Amino acid sequence: MTVAEQADEAPVVKDPIHTRAVIIGTGFSGLGMAIALQKQGFGFGDFVILEKADDIGGTWRDNTYPGCACDIPSHMYSFSFEPKPDWTHMWSLQPEIFDYLKGVAAKYGLRRYVHFNSHVERAHWDDAEMRWHVFTADGREYVAQFLVSGAGALHIPLIPDIAGIDEFAGASFHSAQWDHSVDITGKRVAVIGTGASAIQLVPEIVKDVAELQVYQRTPPWVMPRPNNALPEWIRRVFTEVPGTRALMRLAIYWGHEVVGFGMTKQPGLLRIGAVLGKWNIRRAVKDKALRRKLTPDYRAGCKRILNSDTYYRGIANPKTTVITERITRMTRDGIVTFDGVEHPVDVVVFATGFHVTDSYSYVDIKGPGGEDLVDRWTREGVEAHRGVAVAGMPNLFFLLGPNTGLGHNSVVFMIEAQIRYVAQAIAAVDKTRAQAVAPTRAAQDEFNGELQHDLAKTVWSTGGCRSWYMDSHGVNRTLWSGMTWQYWLATRRFKRSEYDFLGR
Ligand code: NAP
Repeated sequence: MTVAEQADEAPVVKDPIHTRAVIIGTGFSGLGMAIALQKQGFGFGDFVILEKADDIGGTWRDNTYPGCACDIPSHMYSFSFEPKPDWTHMWSLQPEIFDYLKGVAAKYGLRRYVHFNSHVERAHWDDAEMRWHVFTADGREYVAQFLVSGAGALHIPLIPDIAGIDEFAGASFHSAQWDHSVDITGKRVAVIGTGASAIQLVPEIVKDVAELQVYQRTPPWVMPRPNNALPEWIRRVFTEVPGTRALMRLAIYWGHEVVGFGMTKQPGLLRIGAVLGKWNIRRAVKDKALRRKLTPDYRAGCKRILNSDTYYRGIANPKTTVITERITRMTRDGIVTFDGVEHPVDVVVFATGFHVTDSYSYVDIKGPGGEDLVDRWTREGVEAHRGVAVAGMPNLFFLLGPNTGLGHNSVVFMIEAQIRYVAQAIAAVDKTRAQAVAPTRAAQDEFNGELQHDLAKTVWSTGGCRSWYMDSHGVNRTLWSGMTWQYWLATRRFKRSEYDFLGR
């Protein structure tokens, strides 16, 4: 952060802070929402952004593990209104995406709206005032008409509850909390998990470690993906030749929608993915028994399809062992598997994903009459109207909320659809001289009824795997059911008939 940026930051104030809107988080969602509010005439003092950490960036600030990169091409995984023609890679690495977000924040002067180190703990709606009271962990209070959560779904690291985990004497950390003070050079390192984060970090760290143990519970489908630096001339073309960057974005968008068609409408088409995935294994792994271990037995797409040209090479490295026996406990010196073998290690990396359902409900939210939203979601399942607003919860909006995650395209596209929708909802409140707005239960039920009906036909329900997309009742609460342009259509216009306006 530059000195000028630091000076630009909001001071810490102890009295309740009154504002029109509180935004939680400074990832793509929070920053995008802030820009949308600015465009709608919200100035300094009209909204604040509460950020739990000491810098902006969300996911792209927190995840700094070796090899961390985007798995959707950057020309698509960026704001449509803030294109960057000179991305250095097709799938950019974390530092470049983090810099991009910092650049966007600087351009729109967003840091002065951000209250850093402000972990939102709870919020309640005051029926008489028709305002949200939002409290941070350090005891500050914000009073706001609108509350927008840009906290996303993948921000609370999940460390499995392994017996003896506290006895382990070596270093251990989650992939999203990489401990850069630990030197892994020449060490025996265990990576638990083989999901999106693991397949990026395994080929990076294998170069440095003495020995790498990869604990695989379910093998992922990993598609070939070269990701060399884009040559200077291509970046110059995108920068200087009008239309080329936009054309590239369009091509990426529709290419990914084709995969989405397979996932949501014709899972049979995903057999092509299995062919490619098997070829990707074959070309790097010569050992037939190892190939078998690495080959998934469920349909490609049921869990997130991953992309890497280097993962299987990392796995085939003589320093690597893939361990598929279940982990039963950890000891002072290592990891014990179901077959009774103790595997000594110096460092354990938990690449074990995130608390997904919890992250929708990490803030203790109480609506009108003190109704507890977390209780309702625990009872009925996590649901929102169009993935954004919740019946009976006035002026409360979620970005990347329930059922708006994606298995096939850029979530930034979804975020942009949502920030436009929320901005329209706020404008509708002002225009009708109301105080608040909440979707009707009927509208929310109808939307979710159709959504769940459509989800039943998708690869996530039929593909024969167990994924974190499903809640404990086997209901998909995380992914959008169709193509992203369908979500764009569903949120393009805020329909007043689907909402109750309060306090007119
Ligand atoms: P993940 O995909 O959920 O993978 C977690 C891995 O840990 C899985 O292999 C899982 O096995 C394993 N695991 C969990 N608990 C375990 C236990 N108790 N014992 C053994 N193995 C265990 O998590 P992630 O890799 O952090 O990725 C999460 C999401 O973040 C991704 O789906 C993606 O949406 C996003 N992400 C995106 C990028 C990007 O490039 N844009 C990069 C990283 C992450 P099972 O499969 O058997 O459950």
